Amino acid sequence: MSILIKNVNVITMNKNKDIIEDGVVVVEDNLIVDVGDRSLISKYLDSEIIDGEDGILIPGMVNAHTHASMVVFRSLGDDVSDRLQKYIFPLEKNLVDKQLVYAGAKYAVAEMLLGGVTTFADMYYFEDEVAKAVQEAGMRAVLGETVVNFPAPDSNEPYGGLEYSKWFVEKWKESELITPAIAPHAPYTNSEESLKKVLEISEKYDVPILMHVAEMKYEFEEYVKKYDMTPTAYLDSIGMLNKRLIGAHFIHVTDEDLKILKMREVGISHNVGANSKGGKGTAPAVEMYKYGLKIGLGTDGAMSGNTLDIMTQMALVGKVHKLVNEDRTLFPASEILEMATMGGARALSMDAEIGSIEIGKKADLVIVETKSINMQPVYDYYSVLVYSANPSNVDTVMVNGKILVKNKSIKSLDMSDVTYQLREIKEKIQNFNV
Ligand SMILES: [Zn+2]
Repeated sequence: MSILIKNVNVITMNKNKDIIEDGVVVVEDNLIVDVGDRSLISKYLDSEIIDGEDGILIPGMVNAHTHASMVVFRSLGDDVSDRLQKYIFPLEKNLVDKQLVYAGAKYAVAEMLLGGVTTFADMYYFEDEVAKAVQEAGMRAVLGETVVNFPAPDSNEPYGGLEYSKWFVEKWKESELITPAIAPHAPYTNSEESLKKVLEISEKYDVPILMHVAEMKYEFEEYVKKYDMTPTAYLDSIGMLNKRLIGAHFIHVTDEDLKILKMREVGISHNVGANSKGGKGTAPAVEMYKYGLKIGLGTDGAMSGNTLDIMTQMALVGKVHKLVNEDRTLFPASEILEMATMGGARALSMDAEIGSIEIGKKADLVIVETKSINMQPVYDYYSVLVYSANPSNVDTVMVNGKILVKNKSIKSLDMSDVTYQLREIKEKIQNFNV
């Protein structure tokens, strides 16, 4: 049976950025099979009807970089200096276990879905637990096990993530909604040898690589001093840059680096919320977008950016880049929504399947209601989505043809046990002194 969504203003994000007011979208199984005006209603009389009540229908948003389970650490040590090395790594080493990763991921998945995110890219430890939570929820995700040069929460050996990744990739390779990946933490936390092993695994199984790149100023300075190359040029020199790589941040990059990223078709996650809060610097996202790079938006972990939804990022992208460049014409709202949807899909090399509302694409759809007081009036749909809306305006979310959020509540997960588990985890975290 088909599902027909009517009484919605369809923001297609197709090549022409067509908008269909009072539009209709028809879904069969997991695919979009028709898109048009209300005349379609008489063609699909047997369908189950969803009345969008004059809301805005957009493609599901893509969170191109996060660490879902880190939601358990949200609001902790926000203002600590050199937080990654002095705070996060010791905390994770002592407290992160399977139960924490699973409960955290389940909570984060619910938060993302309620905010209209239908696909996310994740790097963490015990990534199999994240996969279980994602599968339970029915969400779409690219999931990578972390590879790092010190004993990690799920391995006593440095680079234990390499072996874990092989097992993890084989386990999830045939999954419909989960794309397993491998996630070297960063260039400066991996040896050249381990990065080459990552590359081998990625090529052998044809899976993506997720990695933080050029996030830290010290990283940039260290690579220039040691190799006389930027981190981006260094990764290219060892063959790491290709279209399977999705790099998060790329803050410290040169014009030459952007040319390399374009030539190698590297995916980019721009994480302006986490970058600004961490005082890390501003990635040249305007140049990246204009230059036609594969750039999407990410939140980073909730310990870095505190939110996991992409709507919050959209407003920040506009505001930060207009401010830094002192130019309000930069990044019109339609370009920002494109990065949140098609851009993220391109970064993850999933643009043939998701990112826009077009016949033949996977039915990952979001209805944003326009009835709430903060949503009126509506003159420009893109501006409303980027600057007026917030995650609480997301009413209905469909992933792969299945309704996971309806009337602003999550349908596919029982949250009561997670809330309880999260309370237990919080107690452990509070009793731990870094
Ligand atoms: Zn990150």
